[in-house]
Amino acid sequence: MTTIGILGGGQLARMMALAGAPLGLRFLVMDSAADACAAQFVPLLGADYRDETALAEFARRVDVVTFDFENVPAESAQWLAERVPVFPSPRALAIAQDRLAEKSLFRELRIGVPAFAAVDTRAQLDLAAQQVGIPAILKTRRLGYDGKGQFRIRSAADLDAAWAALGTQAERGGLILEAFVPFERELSVVAVRGRDGEFRAYPLTENWHEQGVLSASLAPAAVDAALADEALASARRIGEALDYVGVFALELFVCGGRLLANEIAPRVHNSGHWTIEGAVISQFENHLRAVLGLPLGSSAARGVSCMLNWIGGLPARDIVLAEPGGHWHDYGKSPREGRKVGHATLVADEPERLAEALRRVGAALARDAQVEPVISRLCSRSRAP
Ligand code: AMP
Repeated sequence: MTTIGILGGGQLARMMALAGAPLGLRFLVMDSAADACAAQFVPLLGADYRDETALAEFARRVDVVTFDFENVPAESAQWLAERVPVFPSPRALAIAQDRLAEKSLFRELRIGVPAFAAVDTRAQLDLAAQQVGIPAILKTRRLGYDGKGQFRIRSAADLDAAWAALGTQAERGGLILEAFVPFERELSVVAVRGRDGEFRAYPLTENWHEQGVLSASLAPAAVDAALADEALASARRIGEALDYVGVFALELFVCGGRLLANEIAPRVHNSGHWTIEGAVISQFENHLRAVLGLPLGSSAARGVSCMLNWIGGLPARDIVLAEPGGHWHDYGKSPREGRKVGHATLVADEPERLAEALRRVGAALARDAQVEPVISRLCSRSRAP
């Protein structure tokens, strides 16, 4: 019996465990939160990631370690890797944890990136603003996610306020100033790389965010073939450079018809949730296959899918269940403002059918604003020659 150890017991661990059950896998999650939602049906080792006694027990009880959360201390990942196989590797994790390191890697790999500069002091912020230009976004290099740890600088008058908001973080892990990208679209590549280097990418996904948090995803995204090839080739180069094992996501902006890389997430990703029902083999199963050295499954899409995130609380489930291609995911979390508590995926054979389903769901749940950008994208696609 193979047991997968997952650092972090949130919804990603929960969906990994659901995907692993038919493969006969057992799981153990490590999380300091007693109410970690994966622990509703996966054994929990409740401890801090820095607790060496707990890490030793974790290493003893599992055959391979992976993550549901990328901000696990790099030293803990390294400590485990000396005792049990850890995928992705602590090196890949360390690079993906640091916005400066990942953007430097993108540049080395000749992948387009927004202008950026490291900021460690208030004086460097002025220099960086001259170098990068304004508007810009000041971000913490580490521990930021879902738009947290970010300050938007609209004019030079905002520099003091940006420093007041994030300056204390400069001492902890550094800051990065990035040019603000007036993007037309946001895309992601969800890709998987096996232990033997086999690489597969899901069709490109288009994403919409609300206040920095993913709101909706549409896949396959209708994009120019050359752009799609470039996005997939970039993901492949990143996977190879990091000798990556498992699923990762590459987040991209489309600006002036060009691709600019924002970041990589070294784990299964929210923009890949649609693959559970909308792809032949889901990102969760492919991640498990990769870390176990099993053959990877097809990443081809089945029809066209839209994933809607439920943030703060769940709407009426029956509305989604009444749709022929409607799928419901309740993470078993208590509602809280800004918290991802579930998602729905709508799958259809044709873009027009998906747009109709989204119109019905959006109206019935009073979520028109959430579905509208997806519907207009689907409609422009069906008008395309
Ligand atoms: P992140 O935490 O870097 O993934 O950022 C969350 C969201 O903020 C992104 O998906 C974008 O919608 C927005 N964002 C982040 N960086 C930039 C940027 N340099 N220019 C414009 N928007 C950005």
